[in-house]
Amino acid sequence: MRQLIHIWRRTFTVNLRESGSQLPHAPVHRLACDWRLPLVAMLLAGSLSFLICLGSGTLKAMWGEIAPIWLANGVLLAQAMVSKGSHRYCILLGGALGFFGANLYVGESLYVSTSFTGSDMVEVCVALLFVPNVATAAELIQPRPCIRFVAAAVLLAPLVSGVTAMSLLDGWASNHPFSSIANWIVSDALGMAIFAPAALVFFSGEILHLWRSPKRKRTAALLSLLAVVTAVVFGQSRYPLMYWILPPIALLAFEAELAAVLLGVLLTSVIAIAFTLNQTGPFWLFPYATTHDRILALQFLVLAALAIAFPVSVLQSQRSRLMNLLREREYRYRALAESSGEIVMQLSLERKIMYVSSRVEIVLGYGVRDLLDRSFSELVHPDDRAKVEAAASGAILEKTEAAANFRISRLDGEYLWVQGHVSALPDISGNAFSSLAFAIRDVHAKTLEDERRNAEQFELERLAYRDVLSGLYNRRHFDIELDRRISSSGSKTVSLLLIDIDNFKTYNDHYGHPAGDACLQRVAKTLGAAARSGDVAARYGGEEFAVILADCTEGEALEVAERIRANVEAAVIPHASSSFGVVTVSVGLAVADVGRGVAARELVGQADAMLYRAKRMGRNRVADRRGVSFEQLPML
Ligand code: GH3
Ligand code: MG
Ligand code: MG
Repeated sequence: MRQLIHIWRRTFTVNLRESGSQLPHAPVHRLACDWRLPLVAMLLAGSLSFLICLGSGTLKAMWGEIAPIWLANGVLLAQAMVSKGSHRYCILLGGALGFFGANLYVGESLYVSTSFTGSDMVEVCVALLFVPNVATAAELIQPRPCIRFVAAAVLLAPLVSGVTAMSLLDGWASNHPFSSIANWIVSDALGMAIFAPAALVFFSGEILHLWRSPKRKRTAALLSLLAVVTAVVFGQSRYPLMYWILPPIALLAFEAELAAVLLGVLLTSVIAIAFTLNQTGPFWLFPYATTHDRILALQFLVLAALAIAFPVSVLQSQRSRLMNLLREREYRYRALAESSGEIVMQLSLERKIMYVSSRVEIVLGYGVRDLLDRSFSELVHPDDRAKVEAAASGAILEKTEAAANFRISRLDGEYLWVQGHVSALPDISGNAFSSLAFAIRDVHAKTLEDERRNAEQFELERLAYRDVLSGLYNRRHFDIELDRRISSSGSKTVSLLLIDIDNFKTYNDHYGHPAGDACLQRVAKTLGAAARSGDVAARYGGEEFAVILADCTEGEALEVAERIRANVEAAVIPHASSSFGVVTVSVGLAVADVGRGVAARELVGQADAMLYRAKRMGRNRVADRRGVSFEQLPML
């Protein structure tokens, strides 16, 4: 049984898969090359055609007459439309066998059966030749395919088959050749118009969509209404009420899907035909010659109903597709606006807020709904309104984007500096502007963020070059700077001072380490103040400092060194265990002639030697290669 279902699905849904439909289908099996597939398709088409042929026959007024609505050809055509290649031939062959069998079964002669079958097959083949290459009813009801289908299957094919049948069966059907041929054509046209699309809905699997449709209940109610109206109209023979079946059909076409509309027209046809054959209904009010003519009049009515329902249905399906497309686009743009870090607004030309993205809740604190329909200028600081209005008018007049920085009020009453970009949005015709798009960025937040980043960056750099305790440059920077200055051709001489706090060990011992640190900081401060711009004052290590002096004579360098020493002493930082009573420093000075290619290490060595000399000479003094420049006698 499972296998059979697979074969059925493979037989009729082969086109759907190729046309990219999302409908469910069986997985691809090795059945793909199975010889049984065409056979099953043929058997199915044959038995369906046989049964429907018999069913259509029961609608005849009497044996030998033409059925008022011929279903079989439309169903066979739909079967052939959803199949491809060799399957299609098998289906046509199966259909022909079914038709022939049904005719023989009801007792027609071999000749009549062959003629009927031949005419029906001519109809199906002519229709198949010209119908659009579609495999679903949804594709079929697009305007172009629909027009092609009506022209080929509803007009041309029944006409050709009607002429074929009447020429083969000349004089057989009735004494009214025109009536017979018209009957044939109209009943086949009706069958094609209703049953080919309806069967397509079934064979393509679209029936499942109809079943799951959210409009299911409303459709069922409308179909019931149509059935009741038809029964009322055709259940009486007093008034010519037949056109009252049109409003419920039109309503159905507006509200339901095409498949339901086709079902409705079929329902109406069956009820109306049943009553008319039973000699009741509005068509018995008119002096027609035969029942045959009454049925023909009824067929025209059903065709008119279809002529109303089809275009409405097509337009409706186009409309709903368009609406879905619009909804999808709207959703996409909204999602973009909502995910933006800016507040996105759409303003009417009167500057009323038509749309605002939810970012406004975070930045300004308002709820989106509270802002809709409010005037935008109410939010702007009174002093900035003219500026914002000028930007908006400029965007409209110049047809470009305009920007303005302004203050906007927050829910808490505070004003926030923002940057707004405004541009005019054209209406659907593209000839005039219908609204304004506003993108608002919180510049304050951005500035704060920038400041925070800059501070972080600054701190990182500071840590890389500065000594944490003293705030002077660190040893690393000192080394780099000394190398750079010695090797640079910009200066002629580089002077170096090495400064060491005298008796600092005893200071620490006497006052404690934290006080030692504070002392280091004070000395560093004094030293930094004494240095000139362009000099580099660094903590060399421990309680030793170094100052690189840019481009100066040895005399000038000596002056700076002496100033440093004197300033430290003048700071009067008490040092109880020092013979000077206050904190003092010793300074070693070395000067390098850059042109002579001296190395940094050499210069530091010389300055260190000078420092040693200053210490040896009694501390609190400056020493250079010429001797000790200043000597402070120890205080007694
Ligand atoms: P001199 O006059 O010969 O320079 O004698 P001194 O006691 O200063 O001798 P020296 O330079 O060898 O002693 C350095 C002392 O400085 C040793 C150490 O306790 C102290 N020192 C080094 N770095 C720090 C620091 O960061 N904080 C404090 N509080 N003390 C430090
Ligand atoms: Mg030292
Ligand atoms: Mg020392």
